[in-house]
Amino acid sequence: MPELPEVEIVKQGLLKSLPKDEIQEVQTFRKDLRFPLPLKELAQLKNHSIKTISRRGKFLILETTSRHFISHLGMTGHWRFESTYSPLKHDHIRIQWNSQNLIYNDPRRFGYILNYEIDLFKNFGPDPILDILEAKNFYPRYKKSETNIKTFLLNQKNILGIGNIYASEILFKAKIKPLKKVRQLKLQDWESILVETKLVLNKAITLGGSSMRDYKNVEGDKGDMQNHWLVYGKQSIPCSVCKTAIKNITISNRSSYFCSQCQK
Ligand SMILES: [Zn+2]
Repeated sequence: MPELPEVEIVKQGLLKSLPKDEIQEVQTFRKDLRFPLPLKELAQLKNHSIKTISRRGKFLILETTSRHFISHLGMTGHWRFESTYSPLKHDHIRIQWNSQNLIYNDPRRFGYILNYEIDLFKNFGPDPILDILEAKNFYPRYKKSETNIKTFLLNQKNILGIGNIYASEILFKAKIKPLKKVRQLKLQDWESILVETKLVLNKAITLGGSSMRDYKNVEGDKGDMQNHWLVYGKQSIPCSVCKTAIKNITISNRSSYFCSQCQK
């Protein structure tokens, strides 16, 4: 599933080729993805244009001269441009300009497009790239939390954009074991986690994101971050710091990789 860095790369790719002129037509090839599509609002994009595309967490925000939409890629969603449209299986939406097409394809249909609602992000945590993350805000707020830090990081209500891969990588860099209870974290632990969150995600963006299975950017290229993972998918491989074999445990049904020596 794409996490924040991969969605950021998709956004950058979309912005590179986004036509400035008016949309000729929007075709939808089914009524729903994970949720019902806003069919009427999408059709009303005719004669409007997309002003820009922004990102918050794992959400893309399509800002048009008519209204805003959010796009979530789910597991296998991706957008591609084509000057001449060549239909593919699992194409669900086609936005058509004079000399360009933007197509949304999603084989597993866990992705979705919705009308943007102003209070959408009210119940979500901060975005680690767009917002300032401060240990002094997290530490008192979650002092009594019985959750483990791995599960905490995956919850978009606490912090946006982190998924299973980057949660393991961040906790390894911060030297915190994934099962550590949030209430046991000291102020310095929060500082390490939040600093490493920014560093790990920024590094992944610089490297074009992580590609496993389906993820490709808008141009169809793969990222390179998977070649720089330190613990994710490295079960039994010696830790890059201390040479102890990396462990893999299941937390909330997800694989979590860590070094039992480096992470306390
Ligand atoms: Zn180690």
